[in-house]
Amino acid sequence: MISGAPLPAIREDTAGFWEGTAAGELRIQRCSNCRRLRFPPRPMCPYCNSLDHTWDAMSGNGRVWSYVVPHPPLLPAFMELAPYNVVVVELDEDPLIRLVGNLLESAEGAINEVDPATIRIGQPVRVVFQPAGEDVVLPRWVRS
Ligand SMILES: [Zn+2]
Repeated sequence: MISGAPLPAIREDTAGFWEGTAAGELRIQRCSNCRRLRFPPRPMCPYCNSLDHTWDAMSGNGRVWSYVVPHPPLLPAFMELAPYNVVVVELDEDPLIRLVGNLLESAEGAINEVDPATIRIGQPVRVVFQPAGEDVVLPRWVRS
């Protein structure tokens, strides 16, 4: 847990995602009409405009699509953690579904323990879950 880090607001549209992470699953919205996945969560399918969806558990496997090493100025909660990494991961189920997170050495790891010079685009990763506050469990990533 990163003290003072801003946490996501859990709204009606996003609750299914956060209920999934709390249960140790990466759940992504799937349109009940055209069956396409979509992320971030939203009420209406961007492909067919249907309002019906399910929350489907993904495998948790993906690849590093891109990454950055943030530099100051940073939010105060992250100042002492720099340098750390922020990765964008594309999911195996649909490479157009991309999540922002951090690459860790282990599920209990910290966001600044991976040497950024060792991160590679296309590197296979799998999701892990870290409690980040009373009601929030964040998906993060480790190499698979
Ligand atoms: Zn649709």
